[in-house]
Amino acid sequence: MRRAKHRTRPAATGWEAMSLMVSNPIPGDIPACLDELGVDFRLVLEEAHMKCPAHFRRLGKEDRHPSFSVNIEDGLYNCFSCGFTGKFWELVKELTDMTQEQAVAWCQKRGGVERAKRIVSEEGGLRFGAVDTTTVINEASLALYVEVPEKACATRNIAPDSADHYGVLWDKDEERWIVPIRDPNTGKLWGWQEKNARYFRNKPFNVRKQDTLFGIHQIDPEERTVIVVESPLDVPRGHTAGYDNFVATFGAEITNEQLAFLFERFDIIIWALDNDRAGAKALKAILTLYKGYPNIQRVFKYAVPWDRALDDAKKDQPEGYVKDIGDMTDGEIHTGVTGAVSALTYGRTFK
Ligand SMILES: [Zn+2]
Repeated sequence: MRRAKHRTRPAATGWEAMSLMVSNPIPGDIPACLDELGVDFRLVLEEAHMKCPAHFRRLGKEDRHPSFSVNIEDGLYNCFSCGFTGKFWELVKELTDMTQEQAVAWCQKRGGVERAKRIVSEEGGLRFGAVDTTTVINEASLALYVEVPEKACATRNIAPDSADHYGVLWDKDEERWIVPIRDPNTGKLWGWQEKNARYFRNKPFNVRKQDTLFGIHQIDPEERTVIVVESPLDVPRGHTAGYDNFVATFGAEITNEQLAFLFERFDIIIWALDNDRAGAKALKAILTLYKGYPNIQRVFKYAVPWDRALDDAKKDQPEGYVKDIGDMTDGEIHTGVTGAVSALTYGRTFK
C-alpha cells in the first residue's frame, strides 16, 4: 500500500483501519481455524509449523519437512523453502476451493474484524502486510535497543562481554533479547529476532535468516574449525564457555545455502545441533548428503543423547538430559566439544 507523502505519524486513519479489516481479516483463534481447515500442525510459541500446502503447486513436489509456518498472532505465513508467503485469508484460499471473496468472508466470520480492530488500536497503526519492511531496515532500526543488562545475561549464563561481542541487544521495555540478522558476506543488517521465554518473533517476519549464520562475522578469518548450533543465543553462550568459533543456523531447518557456506569456509565442522528429534533428523540428513566431502565432520557429544524411543517431552528423557548447550555448564560444553565423535562413528547409529 502506498503511504501518503507528508504523513507525520503512521497511525491508521479510519479508512485504513477499515480497509485493513476488509482486506486482511485475521481470525481470533488461528490454531482453531487451522484445525477446522484440517491442517496438521505443531505449535512452537507463536508459530504454527506444518508442511507447506503450496509446495506441490509451486515446485512440483511435496514438502517433506515442515518448511512452512503461520504466525498465530498476525496470521502471516511463510515457506522458507518455496517462498509461498502472504496473509491468512490467502492461506484459506490455498487450502480450500474458496474464492478470494469467500476466503475473506470466512476469516471475518471467525472474529477477523475484531482481531484486526484490536491490532490496529494496540499498535497505533498498520503493522503488517501493507508495507514491505525489508526496505526500511537499517542500523538505525536497532537504536531503540540497549546493551543486555548483566542480570539478563546471568539468566542464560552469558557474559555481558560475549553478548556485546556478537552485537546482541536488549529491548528494555519488553524485556526481550534482540538478535541481529545480517548478510553473511557484507554484514548488512537484514532484521532481527526478538525473544524471551514467552515471546518470539522475526522482524521483518520474512527476514532471510536461513540464508545466513549467526556469529559468522565474528570468526577469525584464519579459523578452520566451526561449531554449529541451532539457537543464536547459544553462540554467545559458547563464547562465554571459551569458544569463539560457534555459529547458529536459526533452527533445525538448515538450508543448502547455509551448508554450502559452512563446507566452503571451514575444514572441520562440529555439529552441535539440538539434542532432540528435529536436531537428530537434520544431522542425519546432513551427514548422509555430505558423506563424501573432504571436510572433517564431528558430532558434539551430549552426556545423555536424545532417545528416539522416548517422547520428545523433556520429562520423559532420562536424568541428566539437556536439549542444547544453553542448559549446560562450561565444563559440560567443553566435554561435548572435545569428546565430539567422528561422523563415521556417529553414522553407524543410523537405522
Ligand atoms: Zn513451500
